[in-house]
Amino acid sequence: MPNMQTDKTVMKEQAPEIRRTNWLEVACGYTSDEAVNEAQRCLHCRNMPCVNGCPVRVKIPDFIAHVAKGDFEGAYAVIRETNALPAVCGRVCPQESQCESKCVRGIKGESVAIGRLERFCADYCADKRPEPVRAEPKGKRVAVVGSGPSGLTCAADLAKRGYDVTVFEALHTAGGVLVYGIPEFRLPKSIVSDEVKELEKLGVKIMTDVVVGRTETVDELFENGYEAVFIGSGAGLPRFMGIPGEDGNGVYSANEFLTRINLMKAYRYDYATPIKHHRRVAVVGGGNVAMDAARCAARLGAEKVYIVYRRGENELPARREEVHHAKEEGIEFRLLTNPTKINTDENGNVCSVTCISMELGEPDASGRRRPVEIPGSEHDIDVDAVIIAVGTVPNPLIRMTTSGLDTNRHGCIVTAEDGVTTTKEGVYAGGDAVTGAATVILAMGAGREAAEKIDGYLSAK
Ligand SMILES: Cc1cc2nc3c(=O)[nH]c(=O)nc-3n(C[C@H](O)[C@H](O)[C@H](O)COP(=O)(O)OP(=O)(O)OC[C@H]3O[C@@H](n4cnc5c(N)ncnc54)[C@H](O)[C@@H]3O)c2cc1C
Ligand code: SF4
Repeated sequence: MPNMQTDKTVMKEQAPEIRRTNWLEVACGYTSDEAVNEAQRCLHCRNMPCVNGCPVRVKIPDFIAHVAKGDFEGAYAVIRETNALPAVCGRVCPQESQCESKCVRGIKGESVAIGRLERFCADYCADKRPEPVRAEPKGKRVAVVGSGPSGLTCAADLAKRGYDVTVFEALHTAGGVLVYGIPEFRLPKSIVSDEVKELEKLGVKIMTDVVVGRTETVDELFENGYEAVFIGSGAGLPRFMGIPGEDGNGVYSANEFLTRINLMKAYRYDYATPIKHHRRVAVVGGGNVAMDAARCAARLGAEKVYIVYRRGENELPARREEVHHAKEEGIEFRLLTNPTKINTDENGNVCSVTCISMELGEPDASGRRRPVEIPGSEHDIDVDAVIIAVGTVPNPLIRMTTSGLDTNRHGCIVTAEDGVTTTKEGVYAGGDAVTGAATVILAMGAGREAAEKIDGYLSAK
């Protein structure tokens, strides 16, 4: 008889007033008893709707059945069959719009906490992982550009099939947005490096500080003996607003701000990279990136942090959980508000941001109601820093240096209907480089699909 408790088993979190003063993980994870209790809520539906909601098709009811019996290692083994980064997915996947949105238990209550259970299994098995079995070598080399979730997943799947895989990463640490974007309090960096070590045990080689398009071009990779290339270079080029004052001291792209904090550990005094500790900060944007930047600014000690967003609460693109956490931590939301000018003092330092109030009009091409300015509603917000988090696009370097690789007007790599085959023979692509800024699990799904296609291509060669 399943556990018919309507709500998810609660997961403990650090209290808001405490976590605002530290960088430790906000969510504490389930205990073994809590995990078993939650797993017993699963009905083991025969048609498995939850699996259809997962881009890498984790065998969800199977792994949950192991958890319900207290066999956590068995559960982890099932997850690992299809997911190369379970400790990451369990923490940052938007399960509410993926697997959990399809869960039958969600009809009359809350869905099974699939993400929390996945996280529990990965954490439980962190130091009990079996040595992976290396595949019989196929004697063929594949290059993967970028070590974000798409590149890592593609590399893992290819290594499991016996390919000799090298990942080329521009930064000095592997992980993509997982290391430079998503903060420690949502995704501890030790977890990302442990997942990367697992890939290395599979035989994947990771070369950092290699900028493909500068250090070596895609065409040169082929000349050097790689028979196929996967491009998972993400969408890491920040967009600015094009308003006056954006060159003031104290204006950051969210990308720069988060890279300093997460990758360079600028919040720690024992690290060399500096970051200014601002008193009053406005973060422009309403996505996960904006929430992360605002919550980091609060942890750096800012007295006041605003989210300035041109649409309303319902249109905020960030995960509900992130918005909720940000509010609990005292972040103030200035909704239906858009900056028009950043003001600086005689030394060029930011002193305020001029904003205009908005109202919502008809839906636009994105289906969301278009924000319209209310004439005469200009007002200033006193701040000494403005962080711009209004979106990112792919860096143009690879498209500028690769012959025959088509991109669209947003700079995203064009693919065939399968989503991963590019216009250049032997070159496959996936993740944010193809879709524009999206999610970890979609990037992983693309990495997996590309590995399949690359295997087909090289096997037929
Ligand atoms: C702050 C922030 C918070 C986010 N929060 C969430 C979340 O909670 N949940 C979620 O699902 N998604 C979230 N996302 C989105 C998610 O992280 C991305 O969709 C995902 O990381 C995309 O994966 P990717 O592999 O395509 O690219 P990336 O993770 O961007 O990795 C690309 C890698 O390629 C490298 N690279 C780029 N160009 C080159 C080159 N020329 N040569 C060599 N290497 C190169 C980059 O340095 C980078 O390491 C967030 C994004 C950000 C920025
Ligand atoms: S849909 Fe929900 S209840 Fe059904 S098998 Fe999947 S997780 Fe279990």
